[in-house]
Amino acid sequence: MSKNGKLKIIPLGGLGEVGKNMTAYEFQNQILIVDAGIMFPHNDMLGIDYIIPDYEYLRKKARQVVGIVITHGHEDHIGAIHHVLNDIPVPVYATPLTIGLIEVKLARNNAISKAMLNTVEAGSTIEIGPFQVELFHICHSIPDAVGLGITTPAGLIVHMSDFKFDHTPVDGWPTDYAKLADFSTRGVDLLLSDSTNAERPGWTPSEKVIGPALDKVFEEASGRIIVATFASLISRIQQVADAAGKHGRKMALAGSSMIDNVKIARKLGYLDIPDSVLVPLEQALQMQDHKVVLMCTGSQGEPSSIVGRLSAGTNRQFDIKANDTVVLSSHPIPGNEETISKTINRLLRRGAKVIYDAIAPIHVSGHASQEEQKLLLNLIKPKHFLPIHGELRQLRRHGQLAVEVGIPEECVIVVENGQIVELSGGRIKLGERIPGGYVFVDGQSIGEVDYDIMREREKLARNGIFLIDISVDDYSGRLLHDPEIITRGFVSAEDAEKLLPEVRRRIMDVVNGGGYDSEKDIANTVKSYLYEETKRRPMVLVTLSKNKPVRV
Ligand SMILES: [Zn+2]
Ligand SMILES: [Zn+2]
Repeated sequence: MSKNGKLKIIPLGGLGEVGKNMTAYEFQNQILIVDAGIMFPHNDMLGIDYIIPDYEYLRKKARQVVGIVITHGHEDHIGAIHHVLNDIPVPVYATPLTIGLIEVKLARNNAISKAMLNTVEAGSTIEIGPFQVELFHICHSIPDAVGLGITTPAGLIVHMSDFKFDHTPVDGWPTDYAKLADFSTRGVDLLLSDSTNAERPGWTPSEKVIGPALDKVFEEASGRIIVATFASLISRIQQVADAAGKHGRKMALAGSSMIDNVKIARKLGYLDIPDSVLVPLEQALQMQDHKVVLMCTGSQGEPSSIVGRLSAGTNRQFDIKANDTVVLSSHPIPGNEETISKTINRLLRRGAKVIYDAIAPIHVSGHASQEEQKLLLNLIKPKHFLPIHGELRQLRRHGQLAVEVGIPEECVIVVENGQIVELSGGRIKLGERIPGGYVFVDGQSIGEVDYDIMREREKLARNGIFLIDISVDDYSGRLLHDPEIITRGFVSAEDAEKLLPEVRRRIMDVVNGGGYDSEKDIANTVKSYLYEETKRRPMVLVTLSKNKPVRV
């Protein structure tokens, strides 16, 4: 088949990082978006709710975007959808459960009315502009996940989002291997595939292995069981419900995202939980401890989540009791290890028993390990390979695996967000570079918090603040009264008291001597003195007002 035209592959998120997955395909000025996810903030991103991809490139070309296809309902794939649809109101295509979870998300953000949502069953093919998109079922840690075959005149692309080759999936629905073989026969020009576990040898265990581990937890727990996981980890919710039924406990859900997701997944038939097992939280809290299991969010220790609040003793509806067993059922997302560890310690201090993945197999990864990645490469036999979803080291390792299974090194292309890749004439090369960074979402503000603000917050959090208010005589330039000084988060009150006389003296010298051009110079004088004395650099803010002295 002759290849015509140029296809641009535009990675906007998930390449060089874990999270906020988003890729766009551009052919003859028409653009298809695949996934629109969020990333959770790192420890040092203070006050940030989450991060969305920088999709300015797409916003500028909004009229050329023909649609959005979503591979599955995890936050790192659908979390930014309401932001994207707000700027680029185009049809969305996904499988029934994914559409259901998108509806929940849009409704929570008052964005449902305008959205054009199209339900597409796995196994079907849709035409979106010049893109012929085949959705095929793959196993992951959420039901109804798909990979995509994208055919354009420039060639056939297989976009393998998160997947694992699970032969005994919780929902009994294995990966569509026949489709993968079919692609291979047709000739795949480029494969994009999940690199999350590219450093992990062997096979990822089946979701099924969690069953016995959960059984053990249910057998041994004498009090309440509290299971924390992601609200979108539907397979895990099913497993906990099964264990609850088996061990005669009632299950209750805490947190609106968990409640909404379970409701839609049950309605669509992706969760099989009998009415007799599920009870409202209020009811569960009245029941005997050994009769209940509570499911909630917060497996990453996020301070705003229910488990985060339980560990801090600030949860509204219920508190940790001494005999509770808390199960954290997810792997730490890179960067979250410290927060999780702190949360575990706090829960232990409150008397709970805590079970996390280091001490029991209560979580398995939803992502393919090396042997599965190699199997995929061998099944698809792509001409070119582009690793996606992972930090640079994982992308590189995945690239090496491809070379190991026989893909020529020059046909493996490892890039990070913002580096466009072009496919034309059956060949692949690097295109232009576009922005591919972070957009911070902080409450209602989107993109208003930038790196400078983040650095300021970090500085404030690390070293505190030193506020100096001075007023000078407009005529003489001399201080009208002693500088007023307030410090917070810097040193103890007593230590501050010891520093203040010298700080005041130095300010007087500078101001009364006229040795400054602006407030900044005064601040610098104070900063260098504070650094000499404490080896710390608080944020120093000086406000200076020029007044006429009041004469009596
Ligand atoms: Zn996923
Ligand atoms: Zn993902």
